[in-house]
Amino acid sequence: MIIANARAVFSQEGPFKLTTIERRDLEAHDVLIEIKYAGICHSDIHTARGEWGPVNYPLVPGHEIAGIVTQVGSSVTKYAVGDRVGVGCMVDSCGKCVNCHNGEEQYCLEGNTGTYGAIDRYGHYTQGGYSTHIVVTEDFVVRIPDGIELDAAAPLLCAGITTYSPLSHWGAAPGKKIAVVGLGGLGHMAVKIAHAMGAEVTVLSQSLKKKEDGLKLGADHYYATSDPETFRTLAGSFDLILNTVSAKIDISAYLSLLALDGTMVNVGAPAEPLSVNVFSLIGHRRSFAGSMIGGIRETQEMLVSANQIDEAWERVLALDVRYRFVINISTMENE
Ligand code: NAP
Ligand code: ZN
Ligand code: ZN
Repeated sequence: MIIANARAVFSQEGPFKLTTIERRDLEAHDVLIEIKYAGICHSDIHTARGEWGPVNYPLVPGHEIAGIVTQVGSSVTKYAVGDRVGVGCMVDSCGKCVNCHNGEEQYCLEGNTGTYGAIDRYGHYTQGGYSTHIVVTEDFVVRIPDGIELDAAAPLLCAGITTYSPLSHWGAAPGKKIAVVGLGGLGHMAVKIAHAMGAEVTVLSQSLKKKEDGLKLGADHYYATSDPETFRTLAGSFDLILNTVSAKIDISAYLSLLALDGTMVNVGAPAEPLSVNVFSLIGHRRSFAGSMIGGIRETQEMLVSANQIDEAWERVLALDVRYRFVINISTMENE
């Protein structure tokens, strides 16, 4: 058994306390990772506060994990000690269903195993990345290319892939008009990635407070949704809207901003149900869709393309603590 230091919440109210957790001894295909950085995702907060349902406390959140392999199981072929690696939102899946076969493990028909707060195949409760070490089967580990610093890589493992996947699925490209709703952790990644893919990007934020940042991140336009004029000016104008908001918003108002055949994709995951006025869909053959993180192959593909040295992607890599806090795990060990 491997003992890791960790930060856990013991109730919905918190606060975080330093504790120790057990990681399983390495199975044949497992790798042991010394975690260097862990990003803070809003999903960590939704989960820890019980907003998505009951939680087994203590809970160690964190699913934007970047670190170094320090030990490998006897049959591991993909990784060696010293490799720079990442782990995202899931650590296992059935491996047999059609979705797993197609590299869409996040949509495993038996349910993927979440990096924290889930029961794994050994019957253990999973604990996440706000900790010094984690043991993960090699198929759910990705390689972080040398050109990407580990602290910058961490947020790509959830915020990055969660926005990259729908942008790529719904064809973000030159000539496409894309709106990103909410400029938080996911939103700032979405702006950078959509811009890097060549789309014309508009940020729809609650106010204009972050306008300068949004434009620096690569947005072409920036509007405040608190201003009703925004909804009149932009009516019918987008091919794709990516909603990254962590709270309930008026979906129908945003649907009215889509052009004919436009799609609004929800990646934000508030606990309350969202309601839709069907007339905002049927009037212009619009779609309302959802998307969850991305597959392992796709995550690796994103990291490789993010490593390509061109100006647009370099901006994706620039760590921006204003929009994603990343925990330096080494400071935890010294406490
Ligand atoms: P975040 O950093 O807190 O950003 C959320 C943004 O939403 C805020 O920055 C804010 O943007 C906007 N917002 C917040 N409250 C709002 C309100 N009441 N009305 C309008 N806008 C509001 O969170 P995050 O880490 O990016 O995560 C965003 C959501 O995505 C969470 O619900 C998270 O659980 C979910 N998520 C889903 C997936 C998936 O696989 N689908 C993966 C990761 C995260 P402005 O200040 O610009 O308005
Ligand atoms: Zn996340
Ligand atoms: Zn499966």
